[in-house]
Amino acid sequence: MSYLVLARKWRPQIFEDVIGQLHVTKTLQNALRNDCLAHALLLSGPRGIGKTSVARILAKAVNCESGPTPNPCNKCGVCREITAGSSIDVQEIDGASNRGIDEIRQLRENIQFLPTRCRHRIYIIDEVHMLTKEAFNALLKTLEEPPSHVYFIFATTEPEKIPATIHSRCQHYEFRRLGTAKLADHLGKIVQAEGIGLQQDATLLLAREAEGSVRDGLSLLDQVAAYGATSLKEVCEVLGIVGTQVLKELAVAILESDVAKAIGLIDNVYSFGGNIQKFTTDLVFFFRNLVVLKNLGLEKAVTLMDLSKEDLDEFSPIISKYPAHSLFQVLDALMKGQEAIYRSTTPKLSLEMLVIRLCSMKEVVGIDDLLGKVDKLLSSTRIREENFPEEPQDEKSAAPESNPVTQTAKECSPEIWTDFIDFVKEHHPVLGSLLTCCEWIETESNGDHVRLNCRSGMQYDMLCEVDHQQRLRELTKKFFSRAIDVVIEEICVTNNGNAGGSGKTFSLRNELIQSSLVQEAVKVFHARISDVRVFSNRGQK
Ligand SMILES: [Zn+2]
Repeated sequence: MSYLVLARKWRPQIFEDVIGQLHVTKTLQNALRNDCLAHALLLSGPRGIGKTSVARILAKAVNCESGPTPNPCNKCGVCREITAGSSIDVQEIDGASNRGIDEIRQLRENIQFLPTRCRHRIYIIDEVHMLTKEAFNALLKTLEEPPSHVYFIFATTEPEKIPATIHSRCQHYEFRRLGTAKLADHLGKIVQAEGIGLQQDATLLLAREAEGSVRDGLSLLDQVAAYGATSLKEVCEVLGIVGTQVLKELAVAILESDVAKAIGLIDNVYSFGGNIQKFTTDLVFFFRNLVVLKNLGLEKAVTLMDLSKEDLDEFSPIISKYPAHSLFQVLDALMKGQEAIYRSTTPKLSLEMLVIRLCSMKEVVGIDDLLGKVDKLLSSTRIREENFPEEPQDEKSAAPESNPVTQTAKECSPEIWTDFIDFVKEHHPVLGSLLTCCEWIETESNGDHVRLNCRSGMQYDMLCEVDHQQRLRELTKKFFSRAIDVVIEEICVTNNGNAGGSGKTFSLRNELIQSSLVQEAVKVFHARISDVRVFSNRGQK
């Protein structure tokens, strides 16, 4: 006796046997009950989830000798012929190999004839999206006015490829991918009925590998049963699946930048006969799960993801130890590198290179950390502001005698400033010429600060660049034998009288620009400082 594969042996013969598609089967049964079944039906969804099975059950339902009925008997001659695939009135056509206009023309001629044995002629066209444009056009004429003795059942994995004109003439039923738990449950029942003796965790692994497809799940079960594997470890060996434990170890090695460990693990997987491309995909999904779990939290994520308790035990220590941005950084890089590994003729080498790159990747500073540091710096700035309260804004008119500028002007006067510009031109011609575009305003704080006006926005921007600011500071040190803060303002800002400020404000501005945190931020974001504003606690400025 020849062996019947499980997928065929367990093919559903009545609507109730179809797993996970109750929304489709219930509707179809009601239509049959109320005699309002459309003459053109489109069944869409992923492969191996029961589209063709439902089409065959439907063919029996409309033709059963005791029908039409929502529950075909599967015993009468007609039902048995359809089950055996020998009914001349029920034709299954593969859309991929009969995709031309000639085949459809032939079909159109045939449908004129009345059925021989059955009540209705049924045409099941699988992978209907493969038909050519001409073939679809030829089909359209028939669908516009289908003969009452004919039913068309189209099945497809890609409904979006069906022309709108065809689509709109069909009743569309969308099949859903099965959840891992549901599929595992289904496989478990078959395991028991067949006396295969597969352990529960191994059955769950098969369900996960099948990715929602009943047929794929049963094919895997066939493979495993033929080998006689019963434990999770044996199943992993037979199917070349790398267990979660190895993925976890590799994930940690990457996050800990442990190149030797990571390369060793990849080598083990390879020697073990594992498929490197598949292993890479598993690694991507492992990090995807880490990122989702980290962002949603364990409780919320568990309801959304098909994870076992064992899986969660593997994930928990990692997500509590590493920050979200580190996990995301690895996931992002893995996804970008995955494509190259799939195309590579030496996938192991490509994966090793990718993992080495991941291990040597400098950890990005999380935006939360950075913002935290900025907040810290801002609060320390406020404390200083409180200790050195701002002088009134209209300081010149309010108290001209108290202005320190008059007392120290001789140390850094406009004349000496002209000499300084010549000095800068010698050492840094670009900076020198930028300074000639600026107008002298005044010095403040005993000559420690110089205020300049810049008329051009572009030159102002260039002068504000960190490199130029640093160089300028160095040159003032050289020339004046002490560091002088040079504060440059755009002329429009000065004209409205709002850009003024005391020496303390200047000092704070320059301190901020020079601070290591700001410099770090500039580096991380490849940024340029365009403006520094100091806020007073005594009101906005
Ligand atoms: Zn029957």
